[in-house]
Amino acid sequence: MGMPAGQVGSTTAEIVGIPHFVGGQKRLSPRSASLPVYDPSSGRQTGSVPVATDLEVDETVALAQAAQPAWARATLAQRAEVFFRFRELLTRNADQLALAITREHGKVLSDARGEIARGLENVEFACGLSHLLKGSKSVEVSSNIDVEEYRFPVGVAVGISPFNFPVMVPLWMICSALACGNAFILKPSEKDPGAPVLLAELLAEAGLPAGVLSILHGDASTVNRLLDHPDVAAVSSVGSTLVARQIYHRAAKHGKRVQALGGAKNHMVVLPDADLEAAANAAVSAAFGSAGERCMAISVLVAVGEAADPLVELVAAKMTRLRIGPGTDPSSEMGPLITSAHRDRVASYITTGAAEGATVVVDGRSLSFEGDGFFLGASLLDQVTPDMRVYQDEIFGPVLCVVRCPNYQEALAVVNANHYGNGGAIFTRDGAAARRFCREAEVGMVGINVPIPVPVGTFSFGGWKDSLFGDSHMYGPDGIHFFTRTKVVTGRWQETGEARPAINFSFPANS
Ligand code: NAD
Repeated sequence: MGMPAGQVGSTTAEIVGIPHFVGGQKRLSPRSASLPVYDPSSGRQTGSVPVATDLEVDETVALAQAAQPAWARATLAQRAEVFFRFRELLTRNADQLALAITREHGKVLSDARGEIARGLENVEFACGLSHLLKGSKSVEVSSNIDVEEYRFPVGVAVGISPFNFPVMVPLWMICSALACGNAFILKPSEKDPGAPVLLAELLAEAGLPAGVLSILHGDASTVNRLLDHPDVAAVSSVGSTLVARQIYHRAAKHGKRVQALGGAKNHMVVLPDADLEAAANAAVSAAFGSAGERCMAISVLVAVGEAADPLVELVAAKMTRLRIGPGTDPSSEMGPLITSAHRDRVASYITTGAAEGATVVVDGRSLSFEGDGFFLGASLLDQVTPDMRVYQDEIFGPVLCVVRCPNYQEALAVVNANHYGNGGAIFTRDGAAARRFCREAEVGMVGINVPIPVPVGTFSFGGWKDSLFGDSHMYGPDGIHFFTRTKVVTGRWQETGEARPAINFSFPANS
C-alpha cells in the first residue's frame, strides 16, 4: 500500500478523492458525479467518492470477463498461494486498515480490529481451497461406467456491501468468489468506501492478477447497471431488507444467481434462571457495540418472568458507565453513528417509543457532545410491545427495547412472529430449554449464552425470513456452493476386447 490509510487518491482542500480499483490499479474518476464521505466523529467531510458511469461499469465487467478464464485455469496451488500471501499482508497492515475503517465508519478501533480478525477467518478458509473444491466420484455405477462431479466457477460475480462492515462483509464475498476461480466486482457502501480499496491493493500485492477483483464505487444506479448486465452471472449482496428484496428480484429476473442478505431485529431471551449479571453484560455489549449498527446487534431484550425487573435495572446501571467518544480514542467504547441523518432518525425513535407507551428508562438524547460529530447516547426502552413501531422497525442504532413475557412459550411466540429472522439468543442455565429454543426459534443463527452468534469462517452466515432472499448463506461451505456450478460427468471406458454396448432404445438404466 503506497499512501497512508484513508489517503487513497488525490486531495483537494483536505477532501480525499477515493478511487475505483479497476484493471489492477487505482483509478480516479474526476468527471463523474461524486458523493461526500464524512468522518462521523467530527462531522467533517473528508472524502469524495465517485459514482461509476454506465460506461465505467461496462468497461469493468469487460475487464473482469477477460481476466476470469486465466484465473480459473490457474492451478489450485497458485490460487491458494495468493490467499496465503494475502493473509500475511492483511495481518501486517491490520492497524492501518482498522484506522481506515474507524475514520470513515466511526466505530472504535478495537471493534474495527475485531472486524478484520473475523474477516481473516474467510481468508484462512480460502487458503484451503484445494480441499474445498474437491469433486466427488462414484466408480462402477453401471458396467464400466463412473460418475464424477466437478465444481466450476460461475464467471463474473458482483458484490454489493453495506456501510456497517466495510472490510468483513466484502471479505465474506471476495474470498469465496475468488477461491472458486471467479472474477469479482465489489460495489462497496458509498458511506465508507476507502477500506475496500485498501483490500484490493493488498490482494494485488499478494499476486492477484489484474482485472480479477475490481472495486467500483457508486449508488443505486451503479448497482442497477451491474444487476442488468448480461455478463454478470451471480450477485451477492448485504444491506437493508428493502434493498435486498429489490436486488434479489431485479437480478433474478435476469436469470442470475442471487443471495441478498437483509436487515434484522435480533432478540435475546433471558429466562429467570439465567446468570443475570452475565446476561446484562452481554445485552449492553451486543446492543451498543458499534453503536448498534450491526446486523447481529441485540435490539430486543425479551425478559421472561421475574428476570425482568433486575435485568432492566442491571442493564440501565451498566449503560450509565458506557464511554462514548471518537473511535480513535482508546478509552471510547462506543463511537458515533454513520451520518447525521441516521443519528436524527435513530433519535426520533425515542420520541416515537415514548408516544407509543414505552417507558424511556435511559434517554440517549439527553447526553450532549462537543463538536459536530454524529453522536447519540445509548437508550433503553422498557414495556415495549410487538405492535409498536420501535419494535417492528429495524432502528439500527443504540436503542435497546425490552419486551416482557410471562413465560418461555410467549417469549418464543414474540421471536417467531417477527418478520426478520437473522439471529437470536437465549440466556439460561437450563440446557433443555436452550436446546428447545435452538429447535424452535425461526432464525438462521442462534446463540446460547452468546449474544452475537456470528458463525466462524468454517460455517456459513445467514438468516431466515426477511433477513435473506435466496437459498444460500454467505461464506464457508455455502459460499463455495454459491460461487460454483457443478457438472456431472458420466463416462464409460471399455476394456480392450470387451463387448461393445448394443443399440438400446429404452431409457438407459443402471445394472
Ligand atoms: P443499504 O441497504 O442502504 O445499502 C446497502 C448497499 O446497497 C449499499 O452498497 C448501497 O449503495 C446499495 N443500495 C442502496 N439503495 C439501493 C437501491 N435502491 N438499489 C440498489 N442498491 C442500493 O444498507 P446500509 O445502510 O449500507 O447497511 C445497513 C443495513 O444492512 C441494515 O439493514 C443491516 O441490518 C443490513 N446488514 C445486514 C447484514 C446481514 O448479514 N444480514 C449484515 C450487515 C448489514
